[in-house]
Amino acid sequence: MSKILVTGGTGFIGSHTVVELHNAGYEVVIVDNFANSNPKILNQLKKITGKEFQFFELDLCDEAKVKAFVDQNADITGVIHFAAYKAVGESVQQPLKYYRNNLYSLINVINGFNADIDLVFSSSCTVYGQPDVLPVTEAAPVKKAESPYGNTKQIAEEILQDSCAVMPALKVISLRYFNPVGAHATALIGELPIGVPQNLVPFITQSAIGKRGPITVYGNDYATPDGSAVRDYIHVVDLAKAHVAAIRRMESKKASSNYEVFNLGTGKGSSVLEIIQAFEKSTGQKLNYTIGARREGDVEKVWGDVTKSTQELGWKAELDINEMMLSAWNWEKYLKDNPF
Ligand code: NAD
Repeated sequence: MSKILVTGGTGFIGSHTVVELHNAGYEVVIVDNFANSNPKILNQLKKITGKEFQFFELDLCDEAKVKAFVDQNADITGVIHFAAYKAVGESVQQPLKYYRNNLYSLINVINGFNADIDLVFSSSCTVYGQPDVLPVTEAAPVKKAESPYGNTKQIAEEILQDSCAVMPALKVISLRYFNPVGAHATALIGELPIGVPQNLVPFITQSAIGKRGPITVYGNDYATPDGSAVRDYIHVVDLAKAHVAAIRRMESKKASSNYEVFNLGTGKGSSVLEIIQAFEKSTGQKLNYTIGARREGDVEKVWGDVTKSTQELGWKAELDINEMMLSAWNWEKYLKDNPF
C-alpha cells in the first residue's frame, strides 16, 4: 500500500481527497497547521472512513521541521500539496503573506524530499485570466495574474517546471482547478469559509440559511446568454478523485514527461443566474438576490476543455450542478445543527 502525504489535508479539497485516497486503498498521512481549517475535520474524516489518519500539525514554511518530518516518514511515496492561502482579496492587501506561505511551503516540500518524489500540485484556472478561446485548453497562454494569490499559482508552476527540467527524480502533475463547489454526500465535510464568503456557492448557502443577507449578482451586462458571469463549476468529490488518478498516473509511469498539467472542470459553463436557479430547484429553497455592479478582477466567462484529462488522466467529472447545490446545502444545514 503506497503512503501519500496530503498537505492541507484538513482543508476543503484536501479533506475530500483524503477520503478518496482511502477509498482507493492508499495509506494517508495528513499535514496541516489549521491556518484555514478546523481540527474537528479529523474526527469527521474518521466518521466517514472509520479510519484515524496519521496527522502532523506542522507549518510547512518551517524548513527544518519539514526536513525532520520527511526523515521520520521515509516511506512516503507521493505528495498532494494543497496547503496554501487562497483568499484573493486578502492577497491584494497582504501580498507578502501570500508569497511567503504559498511559495516557501512548496519549496520546502520539494527540498524536504530531496526532489525525489511524485508531487501533485493545486493550481488554478486563474492562470488563464480571460482566455481568448473557449473552452480553454492547457496550451492556452498564461495571462498576467489579477492578484498576488493568482500570481503565487503562476510562480509555483514555474518553480515546478524549472525544477523538473533539471531534477529527473521529481515528478509533478499540476492540476488547474476550475470552480470547486459542493460537499461530501455524508454532509460531514465541506467548505468552511472564514468571514464573508467571496465565492458564490458558499454565499448562496449562507444566505439561504439566514447567516447572510441577499446575494449580489455582480454584473448582468456581460457578453453571456443571460448577462451574468460564467464559470465551470466542479463537484469537490469529482475533483478529489482526479487527485487519485494523478497519483496513479505517476505511479504507473504513464506520464509523458516529469512535468504535466491538466485542467479539472466539467467542460461546461454555468452562469451565476443559472446557479441560483439550480440551487432553488434542487433544494426547494427560494433565494433572495439583487443585481449589482461588476466586481473588479472578475473575468467574464471561463470554462475548461477537459479532453486531455479525460484521455490521459482517465478521469471525468460525473456529478452535475444539482448534486453540487444539494450537497452544499446539506453541509450548510449540518453546520447549523453541529456548529464547528
Ligand atoms: P483550504 O484553505 O480549505 O485548504 C488549505 C489548507 O492548507 C488549510 O487546511 C490550511 O490550514 C492549510 N495550510 C495553509 N498554509 C499552510 C502551511 N504553511 N502549513 C500547513 N498547512 C497550511 O483551501 P482549499 O479550497 O481546500 O484549496 C486547496 C488548494 O487548492 C489551495 O492550494 C488553493 O489555492 C487551491 N485552489 C483552490 C480553489 C478553490 O476555489 N477552493 C480553486 C483553485 C485552486
